[in-house]
Amino acid sequence: MSDCVFCRIVAKQIPATVVHEDEHTLAFMDIGQVNPGHVLIAVKKHADNIFALDDAQAAAVFRAAARVSRAIRDAFSPPGLSVYQANGKVAGQTVFHFHVHLLPRHEADGMELTWPVKNPPREKLVEYAERIRARLA
Ligand code: AMP
Ligand code: ZN
Repeated sequence: MSDCVFCRIVAKQIPATVVHEDEHTLAFMDIGQVNPGHVLIAVKKHADNIFALDDAQAAAVFRAAARVSRAIRDAFSPPGLSVYQANGKVAGQTVFHFHVHLLPRHEADGMELTWPVKNPPREKLVEYAERIRARLA
């Protein structure tokens, strides 16, 4: 038996409150509910993180995320919604099975993400872009 909690949810070995399912994804209520209507979109086939997704999974995740986001908007009328996704412990990932958070947002809801901009010179942006472009598969 897998010891991955989301694999166990997909296999229906432990319960989850499901809102949507398709060939590649399962969407269910996050047990922590940072705000009411907080949903996770997880891939059905185990992938540790974004680096392990195949194209079909990647496409399906964002299609489901957009569709479920519209339903959350209609159901809860939040003034905003954050899409959050973490890869690796340092990024805040705690469940190492790829998932996206759909998080309804409200004024002063306590969610904080500091954004320490560096504003490097344009040559740096060009250098960084070249490094990435050279490795695109
Ligand atoms: P992350 O920090 O992005 O890896 O988020 C993991 C999320 O999974 C947290 O928000 C948890 O509340 C949620 N979570 C963990 N276990 C369960 C579970 N059994 N059912 C629903 N959500 C869960
Ligand atoms: Zn898993």
